[in-house]
Amino acid sequence: MKIEVLERDETNIRLVIREADVPLMNALRRIALAEVPSIAIDEVVMIDNSSILQDEIIAHRLGLTPLKTDLDGYNLPEDCSCQSEFGCNLCRVTLMLDAEANDGTRSVYSGELVSENPDVIPVSDKIPIIKLAKGQKLKLEAYARLGKGKNHAKWQPVSVCAYKYFPKIEVPSEKCEDCAKCVDICPKRVLTLKEKKVKIRNLLACNLCMDCVDACPQNPPAIKVEWEKNAFIMNIESTGVLPPERIIQEATKMLDKQLKEFKKQLKAKAK
Ligand SMILES: [Zn+2]
Repeated sequence: MKIEVLERDETNIRLVIREADVPLMNALRRIALAEVPSIAIDEVVMIDNSSILQDEIIAHRLGLTPLKTDLDGYNLPEDCSCQSEFGCNLCRVTLMLDAEANDGTRSVYSGELVSENPDVIPVSDKIPIIKLAKGQKLKLEAYARLGKGKNHAKWQPVSVCAYKYFPKIEVPSEKCEDCAKCVDICPKRVLTLKEKKVKIRNLLACNLCMDCVDACPQNPPAIKVEWEKNAFIMNIESTGVLPPERIIQEATKMLDKQLKEFKKQLKAKAK
């Protein structure tokens, strides 16, 4: 297998993966979505809420606020040695919010949540939680814990995790009459007209929609769009809770663990 990094920043990674197959790519995609854990608020104790929103709505909003995850510092509650319903400092993070609107209406943002662990804080401090009118108060204690996307979407570490086939486009100059109908119709602007010739501008943007093939007035169409069977472009966009490369690394670790478990059980049962 050959992996090439096309782009990478704080929340995004785009990879070209060659000599792989669909089952593997899909397994990694699904594990990244549903199994790689992240930290999210799971329980809220309301101390004072004189706002117009019910406690449940506020708790729901807090749950969906992405928190930076310290994967190595915490245990999943089900794996934690404490086995306590309330959790311990190895499986739970406490965040406090104490907001009051003293002079006129104001918004309360995620940045006002005070965490006991400076590494587990909201990804952005600009996420609105509630609007308070003058004199209204919101005071609460929130407990965050590691969880998995398969149990609730708030624990999903990715906002995008998708792959597509690596496109292959050919425009044979001897067949193509350069009418540029394919250039105009392409929604991703993959093609361009250079010196009155149809050329490929951005191959990787192609999502194999085949609009260009349908638009070609020739029969059979001059433009040929295909895909490589064993090459993929994978795009991972983290919600900010974990670096994107960490998410895919964790996904591979989990796949490995599951396969080992499968092998172990099979060996034991087949004896
Ligand atoms: Zn614990």
